[in-house]
Amino acid sequence: MAEKLLTANEKTPGGVASAPSFKFSELEFYDKIPPEYMANAEKLLTNLQKIRDKVGKPLVIMSGYRSWERQQIVNPTVKKSQHMTASAADLKPPVGLSATELHKIILDLIDKKVLYNGGVGLYVKENFVHYDVRPEGPARWQGN
Ligand SMILES: [Zn+2]
Repeated sequence: MAEKLLTANEKTPGGVASAPSFKFSELEFYDKIPPEYMANAEKLLTNLQKIRDKVGKPLVIMSGYRSWERQQIVNPTVKKSQHMTASAADLKPPVGLSATELHKIILDLIDKKVLYNGGVGLYVKENFVHYDVRPEGPARWQGN
């Protein structure tokens, strides 16, 4: 895990063309993304790159793609999670930034139409921000 933190979001071989700081594997530490969801994953990473560029520091993806089976373990009460279509990432704020501040940066980028207006959830106690590129458009919420 420590090695992943050091290499995350650097321009390394295998980076996604539209999101060179990221690799698809950063969404895959539980399960491989099925081919039918790769377009969602690319759209997600393209948008995460814009957040990363604004923040100016590596963003660590705490949770990316989840298979149906994984979702039953992680959060069984949510039956239709955007994580299950490779459309969502839970982002740990970089050192020096709170989850609240990262959340505000994301909402500002959406307001400026830099970022796709999908789902954004703030989790202050658990210290992460959920961002997704759901096709049906905006959703906002606050978790724990
Ligand atoms: Zn999430």
